[in-house]
Amino acid sequence: MSLPFKLVYHEGYDLNLGSHVFPSQKFRMIRERFLADGFAAPSDFATPEPASDDDLLLVHDRAWITRLKNGTLDFAELLRLEIPYSKQMVDAFWLAAGGSTLAARLALEDRVGFNIGGGFHHAFPDHGEGFCAIHDVAVAIRKLQKDRLIERAMVVDTDVHHGNGTAAIFAGDATVLTMSIHQFHNYPFEKPLSDIDVHLKDGTGDEEYLDRLNEACLWGLKEIQPQLVMYVAGSDPYREDKLGGLSLSIEGLKTRDRLVFDLAHDHHAAVAVTLAGGYARQIEDTITIHSNTAHAAAESILNRTSNKL
Ligand SMILES: [Zn+2]
Repeated sequence: MSLPFKLVYHEGYDLNLGSHVFPSQKFRMIRERFLADGFAAPSDFATPEPASDDDLLLVHDRAWITRLKNGTLDFAELLRLEIPYSKQMVDAFWLAAGGSTLAARLALEDRVGFNIGGGFHHAFPDHGEGFCAIHDVAVAIRKLQKDRLIERAMVVDTDVHHGNGTAAIFAGDATVLTMSIHQFHNYPFEKPLSDIDVHLKDGTGDEEYLDRLNEACLWGLKEIQPQLVMYVAGSDPYREDKLGGLSLSIEGLKTRDRLVFDLAHDHHAAVAVTLAGGYARQIEDTITIHSNTAHAAAESILNRTSNKL
């Protein structure tokens, strides 16, 4: 039986960072895990095109796009981005934006679209930071709004780090509700206001996390009634994460995923997934947590279908 939704993937997603703390080989490893454990067949994958420059201009300043393409970032800009410059890195961001846009379009048809990449929520219109050069999630929302496929969207950001770029891009925009649940004492130290910010203390575990997430999601979904939820499903709230200080278990993270899918579907919203961060001491844990997000999506859809029979 084929999956009830598509997995969006391109081999060019790899940012080619070598031994960097960001394990950009994770995208390929997740695809391999899906195929190896029988969760997905090759026909369950969809291949994205790179986003066009016009699509990126819906979010980003032309000068930033031009400097990225031409390789003319200055030293301060490269420091802030925290990843080495390469043509392959730049191409990967254009592909991630195309992939998240495709996942969002597919989600409107299948209830879920799953990009095995993206979630670069620290990118701003005029600069990049924290491993994020292009805000693929914002590009996807703006592109679908422009094409009149959706009017309202909600960003559910569960990466352990605050979604500062998302908050800045959609500040004052009544058509997009931004929600971020994150560790307060962590990067980014300046946190522009999201519509809903859930600041968690160091060491927060499964139970409190899931209560706070449930409350925030319900409030946001009722408030904006989105056609589309962009789910930024970072795996870094995991207790074994090198860059995170929360204490979620692998099981707790899967419950988190299921909660987001079930609540969104209860409120008639499609869900497009992007992966965002994940820096577990054992990369296999990062792969497991991200893979579980897709399993939770499939279970949410199947549960809903069987309840209707
Ligand atoms: Zn993160």
